[in-house]
Amino acid sequence: MEIDQEDEPISEDVVEQRALTSTLNSFFVYGKAAHRNLIEPRQRTLAWIPPSHRQLLLNSVNYADHIRQLELAIDKNAEFLKLLAIFGANEFEAPQDKNEWHPVTEIQVSQARSTLKQIYRDWSAEGKPERDICYGRAINELNSKFESFNRSSIRVLVPGAGLGRLAYDIACEGYISQGNEFSYHMLMTSNFILNQTTSQNEFGIYPFLHSFSHLSTFSNQIRKISFPDLCPSTNKISTANNFSFTAGSFTQIYSTMLSSWHVVVTTFFIDTAHNIIEYIETIYNTLVDNGLWVNFGPLLYHFEESSYEGSQEGSLELPLDDLITIVRQMGFEFEKIEQGIKCKYAADERSMGNWEYDSVFWVARKKLKIEREN
Ligand code: SAH
Repeated sequence: MEIDQEDEPISEDVVEQRALTSTLNSFFVYGKAAHRNLIEPRQRTLAWIPPSHRQLLLNSVNYADHIRQLELAIDKNAEFLKLLAIFGANEFEAPQDKNEWHPVTEIQVSQARSTLKQIYRDWSAEGKPERDICYGRAINELNSKFESFNRSSIRVLVPGAGLGRLAYDIACEGYISQGNEFSYHMLMTSNFILNQTTSQNEFGIYPFLHSFSHLSTFSNQIRKISFPDLCPSTNKISTANNFSFTAGSFTQIYSTMLSSWHVVVTTFFIDTAHNIIEYIETIYNTLVDNGLWVNFGPLLYHFEESSYEGSQEGSLELPLDDLITIVRQMGFEFEKIEQGIKCKYAADERSMGNWEYDSVFWVARKKLKIEREN
């Protein structure tokens, strides 16, 4: 149970409601915050630099026009995120009155910003090369493993599903697929894209406008990304009967759902754990005997830094070799381990500076009881 600022204990329902309404708020205040963080400082810069420098900027590179275009792009993002907030408030049964929404934190506004990049990664044509490296690899693995099976009887779980594209694509391949996610930013946005979009590339956003660094040209910063590149409601492949999504913590939901899934597919997920062993245990228990765990990603332990700040929850970070030992010890047999797969995450391909991961891809099989006992 959490403790309120006034040292009063607060119920889980209240905590949940606060998380929900502050997420809505983060979508709502995005525009204001972006103006404050991006536009106003540049206007101040224009005012304090020497007049000769100002003239250079205004006359030679049309800086004022850049700023105007940036403002317009911010407004377009803000318009879309407000639409998401209104839709989210309805779908998640939050109060419609914004005055009843919980105040937002800077972290949540930054999550609203990253949601725009996640949309680019999962649901735009430009994000496809990034998706192919991880989602494509996982799907190819499924298709080769289940070549001689009736796919509609194979149950695949995708924990930490983000905006749901991988789970959706797996369903489009004919498997029974379930995504799971606990972030309201992700849940509201995926829900919107999966259920509310009505045509291909219906919406446009500007996910790269938040950074002024590593630009080879200004137009890259304000380039529009259209989505969805594949519209679920008009896709000729129907997933009405084989695709679902659960909202909530993976370990809470699936730790009691024993021997239920033929495959668990994780991409960029296992390093989000406070205790990675708990994730492995949950994956193990929720798989059927002989079931497969397909995993792709780096080891960017999300809570590494919070453990420095005296957080109660702490964080367990294991290097890959120790992790592999533990996964084996817990009853998995590795069928494949590929290391050093170069990939990026929601990265702007046109940027002069990008972070690249050397990811690992593995396929591990839950051993039969008899094998485990020997
Ligand atoms: N698989 C997606 C998203 C990876 S980011 C992709 O490859 O793009 C990791 C995701 O896991 C985030 O969306 C985060 O909200 C989610 N997540 C983290 N911990 C979780 C938990 N305990 N239960 C469910 N989802 C979780």
